[in-house]
Amino acid sequence: MAKQKQDNVYCSFCGRPTSEAGPLVSGLHADICKECAEQVMEIYREHYPSSREQGKFATDGPIPTPQQIKDHLDQYVIGQEEAKRVLAVAVYNHYKRLAYTASHKKNDNDVEIEKSNIILIGETGTGKTLLARTIAKMLEVPFAIADATTLTEAGYVGDDVENVLVRLLQACDYDVAAAERGIVFIDEIDKIARKSENTSITRDVSGEGVQQAMLKLLEGAIVTVPPQGGRKHPEQKLISIDTRNILFLCGGAFDGIERHIASRLKTGAIGYRQADNPVNELDKDDMLQYAEPDDLKHFGLIPELIGRFPMITHLHPLTPEALRRILTEPRNALVKQYQELFRMDEVELTFDSTALDSIVQYALKRHLGARGLRAIMENLLSSIMFDLPNRKGTKVRITKHFVEEHLN
Ligand code: ADP
Repeated sequence: MAKQKQDNVYCSFCGRPTSEAGPLVSGLHADICKECAEQVMEIYREHYPSSREQGKFATDGPIPTPQQIKDHLDQYVIGQEEAKRVLAVAVYNHYKRLAYTASHKKNDNDVEIEKSNIILIGETGTGKTLLARTIAKMLEVPFAIADATTLTEAGYVGDDVENVLVRLLQACDYDVAAAERGIVFIDEIDKIARKSENTSITRDVSGEGVQQAMLKLLEGAIVTVPPQGGRKHPEQKLISIDTRNILFLCGGAFDGIERHIASRLKTGAIGYRQADNPVNELDKDDMLQYAEPDDLKHFGLIPELIGRFPMITHLHPLTPEALRRILTEPRNALVKQYQELFRMDEVELTFDSTALDSIVQYALKRHLGARGLRAIMENLLSSIMFDLPNRKGTKVRITKHFVEEHLN
């Protein structure tokens, strides 16, 4: 059994003493320091890639069916049926594609199955990030989130688009092979719309520039990134990442897109109009289901970028019923989370049904979707939580009166 030695011992590999190299792990005839152990790990990784690194993880077991993927999402995400179905199919195809690529490596005649990156259109706090995160967790692949508004074209103030890949690498401890099969979620994609008034003098580095930079990632190129993110320096060792198998999901509210959709539908461009449901009477939510690539173009996304997202799906604004369910039903519902926190102090927390209704009403007023629920709960329970260690063995019941008194 390996044990750590303390004094007067040298690393058998680099020769440094413990005072310099830190604690050593000892074997029968040799001692090794942390740095050397890491180097050994790296060499082993290169020469003996694990089954996951060989691309087998996607083909090892049975591929989860779209229904199984959706069932999993149902445990965490309330409603959003269409989006769940679209995601489930995209992920299912992604798995199949990885399996196909792994088994048809060198034959030029093989069909190349392209991946299905997805754009999720929906108001803030309706579950776009949650869907992406839940999928990544289920697949056990690295997951990274980026906010499109903080990105700029390489070389300008802001975050280089390529740094999204650095985050992905960081999410899997720099396991490049794992990162190459990860999922990237880029939020607020609608905020990097092309600014039409832009002239050639003022380069649009945060709008169209970012879209152009994103194309490179989406196209399935080998991209080199500095390991710690930030700018590339000539003397820095860069990591190459093949983005071919990275699934990109983009989210955005696309405020006002319904007007484009409406005007397109009115002109009969898609040759569709229900006689008993005139287009101008459809509300925003209904409109979003008809979103097409052309509407995104009107919104300022460049056609090349849109072309890389074969799937467009939408999320519904959350109804009071959905918000109410979000409070209690998902596996890690807010109410369950707080009950668990209270239980750790041996306090039993319960909510009256009418109290939950009131919380929902406050959340609706804030227009932050489900995002507002956590802030409200935190606000509501913080004074009680301050005092929690002194309440051991008691019960706390949250009533409608308490909610109104606190939140007013
Ligand atoms: P956005 O659509 O802005 O990406 P998020 O997915 O980040 O929204 O949602 C914010 C929080 O609200 C999530 O962490 C989750 O707790 C909750 N939430 C939002 N939508 C749902 C939903 N449909 N079902 C369950 N929880 C949700």
